Amino acid sequence: MQKQKIALVTGASKGIGAAIALVLAREGYDIWLNYRSDHAAAENVCRQIEEQGRSCRLLCFDVADPTSVKDVLGPYLEEESPHVLVNNAGFAKDTLMVWMGESEWNDVLSVHLDGFFLVTKQLLVGMLKKKEGRIINIASTSGQSGMPGQVNYSAAKAGLIGATKALAAETSKRNVLVNAVSPGFIETEMIDGLPIDRILPMIPMGRIGRPSEVAEVVAFLCSEKASYITGQVISVNGGAYM
Ligand code: NAP
Repeated sequence: MQKQKIALVTGASKGIGAAIALVLAREGYDIWLNYRSDHAAAENVCRQIEEQGRSCRLLCFDVADPTSVKDVLGPYLEEESPHVLVNNAGFAKDTLMVWMGESEWNDVLSVHLDGFFLVTKQLLVGMLKKKEGRIINIASTSGQSGMPGQVNYSAAKAGLIGATKALAAETSKRNVLVNAVSPGFIETEMIDGLPIDRILPMIPMGRIGRPSEVAEVVAFLCSEKASYITGQVISVNGGAYM
């Protein structure tokens, strides 16, 4: 009988994913930490998790690649099954629609939507069998309001919100609760190079958010305190979209 609860966080070598992994470790979860390429950053987060007395398993794979997802996760899932899945891995490739190439469209849809589908499929059966699980999908204000220069990213994140609600409706009776957390502008590598002076006036709170401010909401949704919340989109955006 598996006692220690495990959380798989995708895209957790840095940014919001790293903050989520650290906060869930603080809350007592052992962490399966997925990332794609930055080994040094992932090892650094892993060390910080172990310093908190929790175990951390590094899982390097591309969430959008069906073979890697199965090859890396499959053997571990035969032994243990995570209680929490946070689908966080992602990136943007911003450009106006008139200049958007097929690869910019496909890559962004694939990392967010195929990534959600492929990783969730692997874990879902285990959660349904145990009648216990939390799935948190990291969406974006861009998927709620639409943002110029982000037709691909807005489509992907809006799709993820739709998938969140549909999956919640399918799994709630088995106590597998599925929600989305939708960040606004958060201080990570992803917003490097954006014109902050033009962005701040769009945020009623007048500042960019911190990764930990997203992570704490994810931790709440994974806790017993959130036992009657499913199919929801919780915004963490300083009022940027109401
Ligand atoms: P970030 O700092 O750039 O970190 C992205 C993480 O995702 C890294 O760990 C990266 O791994 C991983 N990753 C990227 N593609 C991957 C793939 N194909 N397979 C596995 N891992 C992959 O980004 P962030 O700002 O923390 O963003 C995290 C999530 O929040 C994304 O879904 C993003 O869309 C969303 N979000 C961010 C903001 C914001 O303002 N920052 C706002 C709204 C929503 P490696 O670096 O190791 O390759």
